[in-house]
Amino acid sequence: MTLSKRTAKRHFSFILYLSFIIMQRGRRSPATILRQLLLVSRTPLFSNKNCAPKKLYAANPLPLFEDENDGKTKTEWKKRRQTTADELKPPTTNTNTNQQFSMLTDTFNRHHDYLRISLTERCNLRCLYCMPEDGIDLAPKDDLLTTEEIERLVKLFAKEGGVRKVRLTGGEPTVRKDLTDIVERISRIDGIEHVAMTTNGVALKSKLDALKRNGLKSINVSLDSLVKAKFEFMTRRDGLEKVLKSIDEAIRIGIETVKVNVVVVRGQNDDELLDFVQFAKEKPVNVRFIEYMPFNGNKWETRKMVSYAEMFDTIQKKYPSIARIPDETKSEVGKNFQIDDFQGTVSFVTSMTNHFCGGCNRLRILADGNLKVCLFGNAEVSLRDAMRVDNASDDDLKAIVEGAVKRKKAKHAGMENLAFMENRSMIRIGG
Ligand code: SAM
Ligand code: SF4
Repeated sequence: MTLSKRTAKRHFSFILYLSFIIMQRGRRSPATILRQLLLVSRTPLFSNKNCAPKKLYAANPLPLFEDENDGKTKTEWKKRRQTTADELKPPTTNTNTNQQFSMLTDTFNRHHDYLRISLTERCNLRCLYCMPEDGIDLAPKDDLLTTEEIERLVKLFAKEGGVRKVRLTGGEPTVRKDLTDIVERISRIDGIEHVAMTTNGVALKSKLDALKRNGLKSINVSLDSLVKAKFEFMTRRDGLEKVLKSIDEAIRIGIETVKVNVVVVRGQNDDELLDFVQFAKEKPVNVRFIEYMPFNGNKWETRKMVSYAEMFDTIQKKYPSIARIPDETKSEVGKNFQIDDFQGTVSFVTSMTNHFCGGCNRLRILADGNLKVCLFGNAEVSLRDAMRVDNASDDDLKAIVEGAVKRKKAKHAGMENLAFMENRSMIRIGG
């Protein structure tokens, strides 16, 4: 009997995984091992099912990139990549008429009033799509921005740049001991209207009261599976119960907005789309299905990405009444939908198949103090070194930030190129 290369690879990987599970058996119950084997036998690597995307770009009324990409080699991708006339055109912008805040207005007249700050590179989970298998080299603690440095930068961005919203992220922001203090300092800053946080929710529940008291308005909780074994597989850790309790507590104490972020990966959790829609039916939360994005070390493949169009089709078949909620702002990243009398809503974050660069209003400060003007671009500038090494004044910092913002490109490199570009791993960016 001859085995195809693909089948041989599958068998080899299965044996490897089996050995791993047996090695771990002392630490897991037989029921957990059985569940994990069942689960893993359904993932693309191990399953006989054809896992090619059913439909990456559907013939439906949703605005998507045209073109397809399956079956192309890396070299073919690169060859196909040319700057198009369209890319040279300025994007539709969130126009800034207020020249007072020119520090954060780029050459395409996009004004950036939303700052995302990563507080740490550490995390209490190890999500497959985020944390590289071999882990990451953590920056030493002294290399991270201090509470005071974060406060100074937010003051500058609010005063000189007109930043109004700050999101704290990570790694996992709840592992940082001064989290509640940071929230309090930021929410007191003149001009800051909204402090939000993205968290995996594992260690959130006991902190929620203090966070709310100190000014936290909204949270996004990442949750990729409602099935315990699958949660453990995708995050390489236990914790589903804790995350669910945190979500319930956030609703109970009246956090203004509670969103649930679901990164959809084919063969892992795409069979749970309707379960998550049911979640939005029963709870006043916004469930956001996020297209799987490529970052360093996350083993992204086109076939693993489930497009917005495909997700939408699946949901619309069960809920034909699903209706688009008009965007409140031009910088809305989610396409938001209401279904019947649901308590919650569902959204799609379509960074891969329908980017929203034209309305981008976001900047990122990473835990080590680097300013990153685009999630998918690798251009960074160290504000920490400017402050610590060069003793920069606020005017110096303003000039550095303005220079970086003015160099921001019109849009990201396109789905077909992102996978081959050098970028940080997501855990060191923060979403
Ligand atoms: N630890 C927190 C959490 O998980 O919410 C905050 C940091 S995490 C990097 C921020 C967000 O990025 C999460 O919602 C996560 O699901 C999302 N994310 C991470 N890797 C991703 C990927 N490859 N594609 C799409 N979203 C990703
Ligand atoms: Fe940690 Fe969030 Fe990345 Fe998961 S997505 S590994 S929880 S930082």
